Amino acid sequence: MIYLTVCVLFGVATSMVARAKGTSWLLWGLIGAIFPVLGLVGVLLFRRETEELRRQCPSCGRVCMIYDALCTRCGTELEFPEVAIESSADAAHRAHPAT
Ligand SMILES: [Zn+2]
Repeated sequence: MIYLTVCVLFGVATSMVARAKGTSWLLWGLIGAIFPVLGLVGVLLFRRETEELRRQCPSCGRVCMIYDALCTRCGTELEFPEVAIESSADAAHRAHPAT
């Protein structure tokens, strides 16, 4: 019974961290409840995709993640870019500084 309580508490804590990071709190809540400690560590290490720098594919113009080696749309091999595009989190922050 104590184990069950621990699972629920970790599930709630994990989902709260996931929600603060802007990712799926429901999914992470379940992970946190099933793997009480691992789930919480996992969500704390989880990188916010919106905070990553982006770059544009020279062939099709699709915006990809800066660490992508191949364009996810046309498959063009991507050199490391000279100019990176700011992360979507930074762009959103600049558009709405209050948030
Ligand atoms: Zn492309």
